[in-house]
Parts: sequence; C-alpha cells; structure tokens
Amino acid sequence: MNNKLIVLLTFIIACFFGIMPVFAQLGVGWKVHDAKRPKPTIVTPGSESTQEKAGTAPSDAVVLFDGTDLSAWQRFDGSPAAWKVENGYMEVVEGGGSIKTLEGFGDCQIHIEWSTPIMPNASGQGNGNSGIYLMDHYEIQMLNSFENETYADGQAAAVYGQTPPLVNSSRAPRVWQTYDIIFHRPRFSELGNLRKPATVTVFHNGVLVHYNTEFMGPTDWQDRPPYKQHAEKLPIALQDHGNPMRFRNIWVRDLEQYKRPEAPITNIQYLELTEDDLSDYEGTYSNESGFSLTVKERDGQLGLFFGKSKNFKYLIYPITKYQFSAKYVDSTIDFRLSSRGIDGLTWTMGGTEIKADRE
Ligand code: MG
Repeated sequence: MNNKLIVLLTFIIACFFGIMPVFAQLGVGWKVHDAKRPKPTIVTPGSESTQEKAGTAPSDAVVLFDGTDLSAWQRFDGSPAAWKVENGYMEVVEGGGSIKTLEGFGDCQIHIEWSTPIMPNASGQGNGNSGIYLMDHYEIQMLNSFENETYADGQAAAVYGQTPPLVNSSRAPRVWQTYDIIFHRPRFSELGNLRKPATVTVFHNGVLVHYNTEFMGPTDWQDRPPYKQHAEKLPIALQDHGNPMRFRNIWVRDLEQYKRPEAPITNIQYLELTEDDLSDYEGTYSNESGFSLTVKERDGQLGLFFGKSKNFKYLIYPITKYQFSAKYVDSTIDFRLSSRGIDGLTWTMGGTEIKADRE
C-alpha cells in the first residue's frame, strides 16, 4: 500500500469515529533537504563527439558500438552482423541486411551518430534512408533531409508514418549527425490491453524534435497497425534500406534500473506544550560565524525566523521536551539546558549541524 493511500484511509477512519489524529503525524514523502534521502548513483559522463572524432559513452551505458566491432549486433536470422567496420564507423553494405542488438532494452536513453551517403541522383525516400527501431517495432527515421524533399512523416527524425519532427535540424550528407533519444516502452495489462502507449523524446543534432511524442502503435510503411502486446525488453534495430549509411558511437542507458527510493513511513508522536512552556524557548540564538536564529511562539507552536528576517520560515514541533522538529523540512532543534535554563541550541538541517548560544 502506498503512503498516500495509508494517509487517506487513516483520515477516513478517523472521520468515521469523529476523531482527528492531531498529535500523530504520519510522514509522507521526503522532507525538504532530507539527510536520509539516498543520493543518486555516480555516473562518469562520456566525452562529446566532434566531426573528426567520436566521443565516448557515460560509465553506466551499454556500449553498442565503439568503432571497433559488431559484437553487440546480429542479423535478423541470428547470423553475425556483416556490415563494414572501418575508420571508427560501421557502414551498411549491399546484402548486409538490417541488424539488431543481441541484448533487449525497455525504457532507455540512446545515443547514436549517423551520416548519409552523397547521392546526387537519388531523391525522397531513396536518398540516405535507414532508421533506428526502438524495441524492434518503433522507428525513428533516418534519411537525408538536407535539401531532399519527402513526405513530412517520413523525413529524418520522424516517428515514421506517424509524427514529423517539430523542426528539420538535418545536416548535409556525410556530415555526422546525432540522435539522443529517450524512450519509454508501452505498458500492457495482464490481458494484453494497452495501458500506456510508448513515448519518445528526441534531440536531433542537439535540437529538440520530439517531446514525449506518443507512438500510435508500431510504425510501418503505408500502414498504421495497432499495438500488440510484446516483451518488456526487445532489441534495438538499424535498418538496411539499401544505402551505405554510416553509424558510430552508439550507446544505451537502461532507465529502468534507476528508481527514486520512496520515503519510509514514519509515525511521530508530538508532545503537547502550553504557551507558558513555549515561552521558555523563545529568544534569539547566535554564534560567532554570524548565524542567527530567532525562536518565537506562533499559533501555539514554536516558529523559526532566520537571520534578521522578519519572515517566519516554519513551525517546529516537540518530540521531547528539548528536541523539536519541523514537519516538512529535515530540520531539528536540540535545545541545550544548563543550570540557568535553556542557554543554547543545535540546529540540524539536511545533515549539517550549527551550534548557537542564546543572546
Ligand atoms: Mg527508414
């Protein structure tokens, strides 16, 4: 059961019995600046490509082609990929056939660089045609669309036969171009019905050309077939359309491995203090580094004012008589007690601690 549902049920049950859970707070979601929140995995970025030299992949990517061999690829009949590899790129050769990755991918980020051949006598779909198929079904078209006309939903960066790119940011033949693709696979119910269509975001040479564009189904020539349930991971394919297209620096990052952890459920009981009790804590607390915090009663709780600001920031609630915490910010105040009463505090926020003395 998720946190929101638990809170909702608690609320409904409480209302039914005519009571409201005033003193218990069920923690929902991460607090602002929460020190317990797990930090993201460290990824070393790759290097950018230039026209002369292909860049490198980030450290968490599966490298599909780094300029050396076609070991990540095979023909559709399962035999080894037979495209030409030279000078750091692969090139479609006559009779080579389309190729697909050995490994399957679902939600992913893909980087691929490609260049179209110089074909002065070719036109339309016959000029520098290939394409990248996501999950074997969903094609982002590759074509020479630099001074080469064709139908809009079939030009470079089109979701083929469905949706043209927002703009045409094509480069000339034999100039390296890039696609940076973010793909979300379609979701199907257990019965095989479509729950959520596949979507794609594409940067063509760094220019956004698709933003969460929905696939209407698998892409096809002169057809728009409906979705059919398929596996959660399927190969990425590159089309042999009979033109000597070149590809380099191909890598993919599995986006399904990264889930942001949900906040743990915490049930905090707060003490009830009278206004008289609260006045014991009131005052300004400061230190030599210039830190200053004023604690003032507000709405029957303690409010915090930082520095010289007259703006109240947030309330803190008593967990014990000397420890107070905020509800939505990861902020705790531990009041320091001496024989003269409360004479200082430690403020902990987002994992850092600041000590201050009462003025
Ligand atoms: Mg194509």
